[in-house]
Amino acid sequence: MKVCVVGSGGREHALAVVLGRTADVVVTPGNAGIPGSTSTPPEEIDADLFVIGPEQPLVDGLADRLRAQGRLVFGPGADGARMEGSKAWMKEVVAAAGVPTARYGDFDDADDAIAFLDTLPGGPDGGYVIKTDGLAAGKGVFVTTDRAAAEADIRDKLAGTAFGDAGRRVVIEERMVGPELSVLAVCDGKRAVALAPAQDFKRVGDGDTGPNTGGMGCYSPVPAVDDALVQDVLDRFVQPTLDELDRRGIDYRGTLYAGLMLTAEGPKLVEYNARFGDPEAQVVLPRLTSDLAQLLAEAAAGELRSEPTSSDEACVAVACAAEGYPASPRTGDVIEGLDEVRDLDGVEVLFAGVAAGEAPDTLVTAGGRVLYVCGTGPTIAGARTRAYEGVARISWPGMHCRSDIAAAPTT
Ligand code: AMP
Repeated sequence: MKVCVVGSGGREHALAVVLGRTADVVVTPGNAGIPGSTSTPPEEIDADLFVIGPEQPLVDGLADRLRAQGRLVFGPGADGARMEGSKAWMKEVVAAAGVPTARYGDFDDADDAIAFLDTLPGGPDGGYVIKTDGLAAGKGVFVTTDRAAAEADIRDKLAGTAFGDAGRRVVIEERMVGPELSVLAVCDGKRAVALAPAQDFKRVGDGDTGPNTGGMGCYSPVPAVDDALVQDVLDRFVQPTLDELDRRGIDYRGTLYAGLMLTAEGPKLVEYNARFGDPEAQVVLPRLTSDLAQLLAEAAAGELRSEPTSSDEACVAVACAAEGYPASPRTGDVIEGLDEVRDLDGVEVLFAGVAAGEAPDTLVTAGGRVLYVCGTGPTIAGARTRAYEGVARISWPGMHCRSDIAAAPTT
């Protein structure tokens, strides 16, 4: 089978590596660190299966365009990708499906939005969450217990100054408290199967400090998340959502990524994404012992038959970011030490924001999250040690990463 992966980050590198176990893989546009990368656009590539990685092309209807050419595509059409492209619409679908989630309202008027804050519980156990309706690269969510800060954020977003048009509508939610969990479900339009759970680290600094990022690291499995909890997520979250989408005429073939919070009242949905998580894919996919190409081809054809299986080994990914990330990453710094990492057992580097350097066989930074060092081992602690052994060998001016990824699993 020939598979075309669309995208250019660490998630797409992980997809290419794992699909490459059983298929020939080409990645478009990929990046200078992903073998098999090509600048040929997906519409001009001949492949048996297309796997679309990032949310933006899904929201823009790439899956629809490829399906119109008769291609087999894993990834929802623009209708289903609205689950990620519009948080207000997603909340409406989820409410109709009866999925447990935070109470919310959606607004394009600042006074109405601010009045809604009064209906939410304040204080240290309460608080406010302000989200851009549209896509904001994982950075459009503001969580606070400070009422004045919530008001200021609402005004910034609705004025279009903070996130442009993506912020001209906001979703306001009550603040939930609890550890977070991501479950990646592979859907064929009617039913879904779950991949192994993972937990990611969103804030830039150790101890969950500093601004939110696209994700600074991740690990899988999550010790306290057993099969029963994953099945519960499928039964009470993913399946009712797929049924609701089906009722609306949406044939959702792709990943439905459920971001959940394990609150005192039980699991609640934080968000849905329409694609594999990044960096969740980097720790979940390498653990698969079943055939990923086969699974995604079945889902794309609307006839899931196989059940994914995962190894008992743990995987930990640490994102190494460029100077200035997340605000304004610096590019063009030469990455050193990659050869030394290649010799380490149980360590793999997955590339994201990189470009070819001037000297042959060198890479330079070309984005915020530059690369992920992934360690695999019999335990989370062992996988973590390996990942950080790899990190210690890599450097460029201003490189930073968190030192506490998977240090203390929280669930
Ligand atoms: P989202 O893009 O919706 O996943 O939000 C990004 C992050 O913001 C989540 O992973 C949570 O850490 C946090 N968050 C979002 N919604 C809530 C909420 N209702 N209560 C508490 N934290 C939230």
